[in-house]
Amino acid sequence: MAKKRNLTHIEMIGKMIFLVRGQKIMLSMHLAELYGVEPRVLIQAVKRNIERFPEDFMFQLRDEEFENLKSQIVISRPPPKNGLALTQKARTIWEAIPGNVQIKLLNKVWCFNCRKTTSIGGDVTGKVSKGMLVLHGRCTRCGKAVARVIENE
Ligand SMILES: [Zn+2]
Repeated sequence: MAKKRNLTHIEMIGKMIFLVRGQKIMLSMHLAELYGVEPRVLIQAVKRNIERFPEDFMFQLRDEEFENLKSQIVISRPPPKNGLALTQKARTIWEAIPGNVQIKLLNKVWCFNCRKTTSIGGDVTGKVSKGMLVLHGRCTRCGKAVARVIENE
């Protein structure tokens, strides 16, 4: 069980590594996620201690590089709770779900357009329908509408 979880974690980090300018890079947003801080906090900390880092430690992406990456970025973490627009009932159900399960739910969404399991992102909304929590959002790959039904146990 623990082994499986570790593997998932490694796979998750693998998805956060991109090739830009011939270098393997991680985005500040993903690094911040791993450290459990906000991206701007991480960037500020690095800037404050810039002399401690080698010159090629980091660089700012050009707009077109970022645009390129966007299509590859996998959202691996649920949006902040206030980023999910949930009805009161939906929020009660959602918040009773452990964080790691929430992540799984958000990253295991069938997209009819992609014909594969992807992640739900965008402005995710949620409401309770027939006793089940239903999340609506957009596929993080193609941007088409997707939904995730969560059965209430
Ligand atoms: Zn899709």
